[in-house]
Amino acid sequence: MNKKEPILKLKGVSKFYYNKGIVASGFSRISLEFNLGEFVIITGESGSGKSTLLNVLSGLDTYEEGQMYINGEETSHYSNEDIEHYRKTYVANIFQSFNLVNSYTVYQNIELVLLLNGFNKKDIKAKVIELIKKVDLYRYRNTKVSKLSGGQKQRVAIARALAKDTPIILADEPTGNLDTRSAQSVVKLLFEVAKDKLVIVVTHNYEQFEKYATRKIEMHDGLVREDIQIKDYENSKPCIYDYKNITFFNKIRLGIRNAFNIIPKFILLAMVFALVIFAFLGIYSSFRKGEYEENKNGFNYYFSDLTDTRIIIKKKDKVPFTEEDYKKISNLPYVEKIEKNDIILDSKYSLNNDEYYFYGTIKNINELNHVDEGSMPLKNTDVVIKKYKDDYPTELNDVLNAKFNLYDDNYYEKINDNYEFQVTGYVYYENSYGMNIFYVSDEIFNKLKLNVNKNYSNLKIKINNQNTDLNIKISDNVPTGEAYISYDYSYYCKYNYCINNIINLNVENIYYSENIDLKITKTYTKYNFNTITGFSNYEENNGYIYISREDYNKLYNKDYYQSSVFVTNVKNIDEVISNLDNLGIDALSIKDVTVNYDDEVLSIIKIFKVIISTIVFIVLFFIAYFVIRLIEKSRNVYYATIRFLGASKKVIKNLISIELYFIYHFVYLLILLIIFLVHNKILHINWINSLANYLTIKDYIIIYILMFVMSALISFRYSRKLFKSSAMSTYRQEV
Ligand code: ADP
Ligand code: MG
Repeated sequence: MNKKEPILKLKGVSKFYYNKGIVASGFSRISLEFNLGEFVIITGESGSGKSTLLNVLSGLDTYEEGQMYINGEETSHYSNEDIEHYRKTYVANIFQSFNLVNSYTVYQNIELVLLLNGFNKKDIKAKVIELIKKVDLYRYRNTKVSKLSGGQKQRVAIARALAKDTPIILADEPTGNLDTRSAQSVVKLLFEVAKDKLVIVVTHNYEQFEKYATRKIEMHDGLVREDIQIKDYENSKPCIYDYKNITFFNKIRLGIRNAFNIIPKFILLAMVFALVIFAFLGIYSSFRKGEYEENKNGFNYYFSDLTDTRIIIKKKDKVPFTEEDYKKISNLPYVEKIEKNDIILDSKYSLNNDEYYFYGTIKNINELNHVDEGSMPLKNTDVVIKKYKDDYPTELNDVLNAKFNLYDDNYYEKINDNYEFQVTGYVYYENSYGMNIFYVSDEIFNKLKLNVNKNYSNLKIKINNQNTDLNIKISDNVPTGEAYISYDYSYYCKYNYCINNIINLNVENIYYSENIDLKITKTYTKYNFNTITGFSNYEENNGYIYISREDYNKLYNKDYYQSSVFVTNVKNIDEVISNLDNLGIDALSIKDVTVNYDDEVLSIIKIFKVIISTIVFIVLFFIAYFVIRLIEKSRNVYYATIRFLGASKKVIKNLISIELYFIYHFVYLLILLIIFLVHNKILHINWINSLANYLTIKDYIIIYILMFVMSALISFRYSRKLFKSSAMSTYRQEV
């Protein structure tokens, strides 16, 4: 009747099933030819091999002997990719159980095929709508298919088969699950679309198709019992579209759709990712924290302020810092503050009276924003003490009303002249070691700064070129350029008369030397001491040379040669040091000069910690890996379905990775946002804050890459496993 090649041809093909050592025959030695234009009905009792035959023809299942020809070409040499290609370009399947994606709408189910075939969004829309109208489901286009009746579902499946636009449609019991009326409409629809195509329908119910069939094949026990042509048909030339692959953009679209499509699955995956990310961050930060704590617990003989965020700086060319330098430094990232005169940080003081004795360092009250007990200071002479809560039982209430003197402990020099200090509150150390700290007012702090400079310098005083061992003090009564001395020292002057004689002051230290001459304009005695100097306590203050504040500043309020920088967070120290280096500044991190008690023990502990963390890391990685794979496995049906539709291994792998990447990025960004909010004190979650304090950008990137690798590994291994067995057996395992 026709000389054209049959589009499909089987020659002595057999299919066996191997099941736990038992071999069952699906069908044996079947030879058949099929042409375009035919509407073939295959019948036969249950178990006679109809479905098996259809699956082999679909390329969904393998066969054991014989040859299959596609469009005249023998196929035994076909690779998996060739079969995928055949399935994609030749065959559309319709199943008794529909094989739709239940979580997609009608529209999305049909669209899926077109996406996989590389259509772009613009063409897709018109085509999908046209097909939906053809199967009379326009009203339901945005309904999820899980909500449709069986007949409606099968119509979606037909529309999807049509969207694929292949020369062959293979339908396995398409009416098997439908009532009579729906069945009739499906049969009619199949017939309408059958023109120019080869349609093979497997059914129990031949009568339903009788009116349309061009050929009837009856199977029995794996063999063809009867094969009769009923009607003539038009054998046309095959029209085969070699579709492109799914576009990159559409892959992303599908991947994202799959990520959020099934809410419980999304939440589950997000939770696993969140858990793993937090666990990773936790291990990582506790590790980092440990490193810092070790350094913190060290000690140093020269430095008293061992704050771990402190960096000591000097200019490489050994000149003093200029205001411009300080400006540049404070503009560096992560620099919190600069202490220009850093000697004060390492000077020790005591705050005492007859009853109490506190020993510690000094800080500016500006650096304190709360007290744990008592109240913030109001007066210039108020002090807050930072100490251990459990250190010597000095109850704040006992201390509150006492008056204190402040001494520079290195020189045992009393700081306060005609006033006394009062303690108004305590702040407590949480858990780390540290000295007592006295928080004093701005005015006192600045005074101490000058005083420290003075104590670190060598002061030589000459009257009329004779060396003396006198000392100086500031008096606001003295004009610039002048000095008041005690009448008792008149012997330095000619005729015991010192007025208008010259005092030479010379200051020297490791950084600079300064020399000034002052004119003696007044001398004091016990009786006029108070009016001349402004000081009240003669016993304590007599003998000093009183000079003006301005001259004092000229001697001691110098540009600084050594300062300290405090960074916002320990983790940023290295970065700040390298930035300082670029500015021509030598920097020394305080945590690098502190000595630990037992370095050897610490390094063993450290190695141990690295090993434990690594193990925990790996275990966590695999737990997450398997949990995520388990969740993804529940999607086997979905991936089997899109494989039926012609998606290749690579496409499926990409879709899985995009889905995982998307959820994972979503979670990661959310976590970063939370950490950011906590770090900036907008949210208050303690344990997250301690995470944030010890992690650097580098750490976040490492964790990001780890998670990336995990997602890639999962999608790679999952898709490989999916494609190890034939599409049919993957599907069979699940349904
Ligand atoms: P039909 O579709 O005509 O009802 P099938 O093609 O499903 O018949 O089955 C044909 C034969 O192959 C039956 O004997 C059946 O038991 C066997 N068979 C089908 N699928 C499997 C399978 N996955 N494993 C083992 N045997 C199978
Ligand atoms: Mg069957």
